[in-house]
Amino acid sequence: MALNIANCPRCGKVFAKGVSDVCRNCLKEIEKEYELCAEYLRENRGATIYEVSDATGVSVRQITKFIREGRISLMDNPNMGYPCESCGILIREGHLCGECRTRLTKQVQRVTEAMNQRESKNEAQREEHKPGTGYWIKKDQDKEKTDSIRPLKD
Ligand SMILES: [Zn+2]
Ligand SMILES: [Zn+2]
Repeated sequence: MALNIANCPRCGKVFAKGVSDVCRNCLKEIEKEYELCAEYLRENRGATIYEVSDATGVSVRQITKFIREGRISLMDNPNMGYPCESCGILIREGHLCGECRTRLTKQVQRVTEAMNQRESKNEAQREEHKPGTGYWIKKDQDKEKTDSIRPLKD
């Protein structure tokens, strides 16, 4: 079995990558950090992630990892959550809060719709483009409504 040498992403030291992503030293440190958080939460069930971070000195990022890994239970700690990756509001599932998820979904929809419309417009151009019928005026009105398609040029 070949040794997989890598830089530890946490401390930057070279280590033999095995089961863990970080070096043995960091693994120990992380275990200690976990113990600190778990202990604090045992006594402060209503704590938020920021309170835990302040009290233990463990980074919000690392605590987020503990939650994602299921080591810190959100069920047992009703006020715990981790920051939305887009706006930073505390959430309890997924990577984004509801608002950011809706916003991103809408953005994706708009892009998809714009692409679809562009495609059908290209087809329309091929099949229906008859100068002088007023067709393009109507299309330009549509364009203003959707606001996402550039006028086709002949
Ligand atoms: Zn390390
Ligand atoms: Zn958000």
